[in-house]
Amino acid sequence: MSRPARVIVNTHAVQANLEVVRACAPGAKVMAIVKADAYGHGIARIASALSPHVDAFGVASIEEALRVRAAKVTTPIVLLEGPFAAEEIDDIAANALETVVHTQAQVRWLEKAPVGVPVWVKIDSGMHRLGFDPAEAASAIESLRRSGRPVRLMTHLASTHRESDPSVTQQLKLFEQLVSRYPGDRSIANSGAVLGWPQCHANWVRPGIMLYGVSPFSGKRGADHGLVPAMTVVSSLIAVRNVDAGGSVGYGKAYVCAERMPVGVVAFGYGDGYPRHAATGTPVIVNGVRTQVIGEASMDMLTVDLRPVPRARPGDPVTLWGADLPVEEVAASAGTIPYELLCRVRMRARYVESVG
Ligand SMILES: *Cc1c(COP(=O)(O)O)cnc(C)c1O
Repeated sequence: MSRPARVIVNTHAVQANLEVVRACAPGAKVMAIVKADAYGHGIARIASALSPHVDAFGVASIEEALRVRAAKVTTPIVLLEGPFAAEEIDDIAANALETVVHTQAQVRWLEKAPVGVPVWVKIDSGMHRLGFDPAEAASAIESLRRSGRPVRLMTHLASTHRESDPSVTQQLKLFEQLVSRYPGDRSIANSGAVLGWPQCHANWVRPGIMLYGVSPFSGKRGADHGLVPAMTVVSSLIAVRNVDAGGSVGYGKAYVCAERMPVGVVAFGYGDGYPRHAATGTPVIVNGVRTQVIGEASMDMLTVDLRPVPRARPGDPVTLWGADLPVEEVAASAGTIPYELLCRVRMRARYVESVG
C-alpha cells in the first residue's frame, strides 16, 4: 500500500455551491475564480465541472489559463493580473484570453492584440494593491475604448471578510463615481461581497472561496451559508504508542503528557500542507471521533491524542479537514485563513475524486 495521504475533491459540491452564488446574485454573470490550482482542488477538474454553468473563469497566469484550455474548456478566461510582459500578448491572442489591465504598460502591450476580445480595466478604489489610481483611470479607459475593444470595469474590495466594514461602502461609492460616465460591464464582488454586500453585485460577480464550500467571513463556516465543503483531506494512523505521564511528544517537547495516554502518529505533515503552527487542541477526526492534534506537526507526520478513541489502531482513518471537520476551524487554530490551507495541500498529497 502507498502512503495514505489523500485529497478527496467533491465536484458536485462545487456545482451546488455555484447554485448558492446564483441564488445570492440572480442577475449577475459569474466569473468563477480558479487561480492557485482552483484553491488547491485541481484546476482542470474544477474548470471541467463548472464550465457549462459559469460565464468565465478567473486565473492568475497564462499557465493556469492553458491548463483550463488543455481540459477542453472553451469558456472565456480572464487573466486577473493581466500580462506580466509584452511577450505574453501572443499567447493571449492565440487563446482568445481576456485580460485585466492595471498599468499603462499593459495598455500599450495590448495594442497588438485582437480588438474583439473584452479587456477589464482594474481601478484601485482603496485597496491599494492593483489598479489604476482614480486620476489615471480615465485615460486608460478612453484609450482602450478608442481602440474599439469592449471595455469592462472592475475593482477589488479589501475588507468584505468583516461583515460590516465601512470601507466597503466607501470603495463602492468611489468606484461608482469613477465609472458612471462609461457604458459596459462592471465587476466588484468576491465571495464576501456575493454573500454579504448585495449592493456590490453589479453585473459580474467573482466568487472564489465560496465555490469550494468555505466561508469568506472570519468566525463563520461554509455551512452557515448553505455551502458544502468540496475538499476533504484524509490519511491514516501509522503508529499507536502509549506514552507515560511526563513523557513528551515530538520535536522540542512541544507536548508533555499529563497522564499515561495513547498517542497516534498520522501520515500527514507540513510537507503535505498541514500548518506547522496548528496548536495543540487543533481538531482532527480519528475513526469518526473528534480529538485533537498534540505537539507540533513535523514534515511527514503529526501526533494526535487518542484518549477519546482508545481502540484506534494503525491503519485507521484520519480526517484532517473537510466534509465533517470545517477547514475554517483548523485554520483558526493555526493562526491562518482557510484559503492558505486549501492552496497548500497540492504539494504532495494524491488526489481522488468523489461523486457526492
Ligand atoms: C481571488 C480573487 C477573487 C476571489 O476572492 P474570494 O475571496 O476567494 O471569493 C475575486 N477577484 C479577484 C480579483 C481575485 O484576485
